[in-house]
Amino acid sequence: MRAAKEFQDRQRETKTRSSVRGVRLPTASRSANGAVSGNANSAKSFANFRRSLLKWYDEHRRDLPWRQTRDPYRIWLSEIMLQQTRVAAVLEHYRIFLERFPDVYALFAASEDSVLAAWSGLGYYRRARMLHQCAKEIVERHGGSFPQSSEVLRQLPGIGRYTAAAIASIAFSEPVAVVDGNVERVLRRLSGTELTKEQDWQQAQAMLAPSRPGDFNQAMMELGATVCVPREPRCLLCPVRKCCVTQGDLPREAPASPQKKRQIWCALQCSSVDGGTNAKVRLVQRSRKESLMPGMWELPNSMEAPRATPYFAHWRTFRHSITVTDYTVHVLRGAPARDATFPGDSVAAKARWVAIDRIPHIPLTGLARKILRAGGLI
Ligand code: SF4
Repeated sequence: MRAAKEFQDRQRETKTRSSVRGVRLPTASRSANGAVSGNANSAKSFANFRRSLLKWYDEHRRDLPWRQTRDPYRIWLSEIMLQQTRVAAVLEHYRIFLERFPDVYALFAASEDSVLAAWSGLGYYRRARMLHQCAKEIVERHGGSFPQSSEVLRQLPGIGRYTAAAIASIAFSEPVAVVDGNVERVLRRLSGTELTKEQDWQQAQAMLAPSRPGDFNQAMMELGATVCVPREPRCLLCPVRKCCVTQGDLPREAPASPQKKRQIWCALQCSSVDGGTNAKVRLVQRSRKESLMPGMWELPNSMEAPRATPYFAHWRTFRHSITVTDYTVHVLRGAPARDATFPGDSVAAKARWVAIDRIPHIPLTGLARKILRAGGLI
């Protein structure tokens, strides 16, 4: 309650001071026929805004692989990988995925397990399943060519309003705006007003540069990712500062809700002491009915501390996050070539010895990959 009142007070203050700060950009409104209203002044304000933003983007954008192409397949893949995932985490996966599945036909022909294997470590595996389904639909219903309009793209599996607009504007220059979390924040700070979701879309559409829609959309997102950042916006470096009413003078965003904490014990057991390509590791497959990572392979594990055993000894402790949970992971290393049951583990009986050279081809959880890498086994 107190935070909400403080926010309202700050908003009121911001509005009062707006005349001595940036110039307010016109707010879009739509008539009954859906057209965005505007006049000569608003056209001029938007033109200034676009010019400043695009000039900055041309000079300062990060050099990312998906910005060197207009191939809809590559753009689509990057957009799906970037959902809820940091750019740094995506880069290597993007490269490896494209090596394995260089076009939509390769993805169409792949098994779901091999798609999940290539996705392993990126998390949110539903995205990979939808990607695979979408590739099938593009080949079977669209002859292998991506639809060029955002409306038709939106009907494909795993493609929502944002992704459809991103692909259509970047790959096909359709003049359609995108709104993601970064754009929402930029719009809120530019106007000093809380907009509804739909108003965000209307405002972004009104501001869009029709001659360079893909670049404009990426510039808005880049601004939010690198300058108008959540906690401390870098207003002194901002190319559109003159158009910004708040210039960062809004209450800081509330910190994200704290992650849950859990402990887990994992058993790492290899058929030979020093690994090698002929070696095998014990893995277990998650049930296909699990809501999280169904059907994926992992190390035998338990959420309870195991009983002492002569076959397993504590090896390392890791931190690992899965969606909203931070895990402390205790890894116990097992004696080689012994089918010892991992203490406290109810699924160890189903564990199988899997050859190390098979591992790149099976869908492995990110945690299992991390542990096997740390053990020098992959
Ligand atoms: S960085 Fe500062 S000046 Fe630029 S849009 Fe964000 S709040 Fe406004």
